[in-house]
Amino acid sequence: MRVQGISTIEYERLRRGECDAHGQTPLSRKAEGGANPCRHCLGLIEDGDTKLVLAYRPFEGTPHPYAEIGPIFLHQAQCARYDSPALPRWFAFLEPAIIRGYGADDWIRYETGQVVPGRELGAACESILTDASVAYVHVRSKFGCFQCRIDRA
Ligand SMILES: [Zn+2]
Repeated sequence: MRVQGISTIEYERLRRGECDAHGQTPLSRKAEGGANPCRHCLGLIEDGDTKLVLAYRPFEGTPHPYAEIGPIFLHQAQCARYDSPALPRWFAFLEPAIIRGYGADDWIRYETGQVVPGRELGAACESILTDASVAYVHVRSKFGCFQCRIDRA
């Protein structure tokens, strides 16, 4: 697997205050509690640190029917993009995680959709990626919020 945060070019664009997927300026807020994941470094934003809250469409190119837009958080302070063969350890605490495979055309492969406990997430993603018709997997929270994209290594 190759697990990555959102592109650094997109992250830096949003940190500069350029428009989100709804054409609005990202909001700056204090993170409260311990459940504020940054989708660039895939780390948790510390309680009291500043986060950006914005609408994000985790698909490249032209919008299409499957290109959902949803809320994400990002560190306002600069962070490094996550890029690893393994999921961040805290993903084990996603209760549950929602996963879906997408084809090379960016349409959902409906037979791949699963709701799994976080500790089973890695194995479930690896299993979906054995299907040659799946190009990549999205991980989402129980709220439907995009967490990260997983590709084949
Ligand atoms: Zn971050």
